[in-house]
Amino acid sequence: MPSLVRIDLLRNVVDILPVGVWIMDETGKILYCNSAGHRIWAGAQHVGVELFGECRGWWVATGKRIAPEEWAWARALRNGEASIDEEVEIECFDGTRKIILNSAMPIRDDKDIIVGAVMVHHDITERKRFEEQLREMSERDPLTNAYNRRHLYTILETETGRARRYSTELSIVMFDIDHFKMINDTHGHLAGDQVLLRIAKIVQQELRSVDMLARYGGEEFLIVAPGIGRLRAVVLAERLRTLIAAEKFGDIPQVTCSFGVYQFDDENTDALFRCVDDLMYKAKQQGRNCVVTQ
Ligand code: GH3
Ligand code: MG
Ligand code: MG
Repeated sequence: MPSLVRIDLLRNVVDILPVGVWIMDETGKILYCNSAGHRIWAGAQHVGVELFGECRGWWVATGKRIAPEEWAWARALRNGEASIDEEVEIECFDGTRKIILNSAMPIRDDKDIIVGAVMVHHDITERKRFEEQLREMSERDPLTNAYNRRHLYTILETETGRARRYSTELSIVMFDIDHFKMINDTHGHLAGDQVLLRIAKIVQQELRSVDMLARYGGEEFLIVAPGIGRLRAVVLAERLRTLIAAEKFGDIPQVTCSFGVYQFDDENTDALFRCVDDLMYKAKQQGRNCVVTQ
């Protein structure tokens, strides 16, 4: 080994790494933990084989609790398994939660016996939070916080796929604000925005947690209601229609909406849009402030 690479020098290098490094013996006792390792876990305690179960962690992909024998370091010590960059949420020693990329490798002696493990943790909590914010922003309409049109297509692909696979009911409700142009022209664009916002709120409050509201166009919305058929969807649409028509919107005497209700019948997404759009258009033709179904 060249004289430059000395143990104390290596220790210094490992200590300034931005990733956490733990070295354990074959029982899981921590022999060494660098500064980042302390920082990430808010301390470095003896976790020992017998204590693996008390280390609380969850697989990010599934949200499932990590079983004692599933921890990367437990697998490294038990089977000599090497694991790279597993995304896990951990409960640190001070109780805070973090998301880390977790890697572990067994350490073997010259007879190939496992004598310990080295673990490397990379704290990605901030990055994940930021990614989540970006994802939310890319899926939502900034004014109403309803899903945007682009994400609506993803939702419909998912939900029609699910309804097909499991032969479950799926209903779509499309609604459009009546004479919205007049509201804008009479009361101003800002007042129009407030109407959009309030209507989205009223609707969201009435929906079940599995229902999804999307802003499909300017003053057109769509509700995707999994697990319910046409008749229950009509009841929902009627309730929304009545609530909106009874709501006071400041200086605006009344705001109404026209509704189309359609139960999915195995068509593709574009055809589904056409069907529900036709029904909503019929509601407009029938004098507005009403619900039309197939
Ligand atoms: P109908 O009853 O037939 O639906 O008539 P309408 O006036 O509601 O329909 P039209 O399509 O003629 O007008 C829709 C208006 O919605 C025109 C557009 O300026 C307005 N609009 C679209 N997006 C927004 C928005 O984000 N904010 C506001 N304030 N107005 C919007
Ligand atoms: Mg309209
Ligand atoms: Mg419209």
